[in-house]
Amino acid sequence: MTVLPLPLNKSNSVNQADIEDIIQETLERIHHDMYNKAKKELHANMAVTHSWSEFNALLDKQKIIQAPFCGDGTCEGKIKKDSARDQDLEAGAPSMGAKSLCIPFDQPMELTADTKCVYLECDQPAKYYTLFGRSY
Ligand SMILES: [Zn+2]
Repeated sequence: MTVLPLPLNKSNSVNQADIEDIIQETLERIHHDMYNKAKKELHANMAVTHSWSEFNALLDKQKIIQAPFCGDGTCEGKIKKDSARDQDLEAGAPSMGAKSLCIPFDQPMELTADTKCVYLECDQPAKYYTLFGRSY
């Protein structure tokens, strides 16, 4: 976090009258810095894929994924089940399957008429890009 220079007076302290402004500016700076840090980390860990195998590889790299999705609840359940990993195979491996997190307001790209749902066994057309992530 960037530390704001305090407007110190001659006695090396701040004037009581300025406290309200100083606190407000400091809180706004903290908010701004936390937001930018979170936004940067989110974008660094976000990926877009149309491939089921890449979808799983990205999950294993702890990415959150935007993928075309048909919007069907049954399909969503299969995505969750088939993207789960067996914790017994690899110590410490995450075992949870991917969950849909949200439908981003800003879609990563436009869907074309022939864009299919990312799930391998689903042949339905995608309705939107959905954000998926594995919970830990
Ligand atoms: Zn589907």
